[in-house]
Amino acid sequence: MNGFRALPSVDQLLQTDSVLQLIDTHGRQLVTATARTALDAARAAIREGADGAVQAARLPHLIAADLAGMAQTNLRPILNLTGTVLHTNLGRAILADEAIAAATDAMSSPLALEFDLATGGRGQRDDHLRDILCELTGAEDATIVNNNAAAVLIALNTFGQGRDSIVSRGELIEIGGAFRMPDIMSRAGTRLVEVGTTNRTHPRDYRDAITDTTALILKVHTSNYRIEGFTAEVGATELAQIGREAGVVVMNDLGAGSLVDLSHYGLRREPTVAEAVAEGADLITFSGDKLLGGPQAGFIVGRRDLIAQINRNPLKRALRLDKIRIAALQATLRLYRDPDR
Ligand SMILES: *Cc1c(COP(=O)(O)O)cnc(C)c1O
Repeated sequence: MNGFRALPSVDQLLQTDSVLQLIDTHGRQLVTATARTALDAARAAIREGADGAVQAARLPHLIAADLAGMAQTNLRPILNLTGTVLHTNLGRAILADEAIAAATDAMSSPLALEFDLATGGRGQRDDHLRDILCELTGAEDATIVNNNAAAVLIALNTFGQGRDSIVSRGELIEIGGAFRMPDIMSRAGTRLVEVGTTNRTHPRDYRDAITDTTALILKVHTSNYRIEGFTAEVGATELAQIGREAGVVVMNDLGAGSLVDLSHYGLRREPTVAEAVAEGADLITFSGDKLLGGPQAGFIVGRRDLIAQINRNPLKRALRLDKIRIAALQATLRLYRDPDR
């Protein structure tokens, strides 16, 4: 029992010079709690036969080490040597200086987020992004949500709930994590109608599948795999035509959705959003933090009447963006006015 007497009380411990310094840095509450935990551990060690004086001498060091561990974040900068530039597990895009400055400003002062400075009336947070998105993509209208997964979800739910959505069997993608197109469709409340085969889907497959309960035709860019060999897919232009004839909404999920033609920079071509708009799909969805280079966000651009319907979906409120990302996105998008930069 002698061993226990070598240990200081919590109060005594908190009076020692080295622990007083820790209180300066970490605050009394945290240091006291850490000191108690360290004392408990010392008592347990003594019960197992450890020497009391040795345990007592180690206490300040143990407390300092515990506090240092707690102060260090695991969310820290690392080097990306994976070979994948836009790595989801490593936070995807690095933001431009302009975007970082805009986000910092938005964080540190009140701002006219939902307030129209010109009229003095109420504004909408999407107002800060709509015009520039339309300018850069040629679309009629745009709406912005938490990420591209949310963009697909809300669009499917708005138009496809209780009705059918047609997708080619070659495009039923899994992005990773829990984003599998069939699962998202079922959560959106729409019935998945698969058409074609894994390698080949033809216009007649879509046409034959359209019924009175069809709401939507979904085209999905196969971002993370390629089907090669004896293949056929129906392009967005033709799908848009099929949709128009049948009065069915055609949506094109681009995934990364670049705003510039990457082949100018010696990279593999990805479909640009402006091309997808020109091809005539009613709605186009793409990510903010993939090739676009902004913070996490999902964009839906396309027909004004359809975008208005999406904005009336109560899910929009649940999936909306905060001011920090809106500011960073606006600054990022503005850089595309001069693509050479
Ligand atoms: C990445 C991707 C998504 C999901 O986008 P997030 O921004 O990760 O939510 C959806 N569809 C396709 C085709 C994608 O490549």
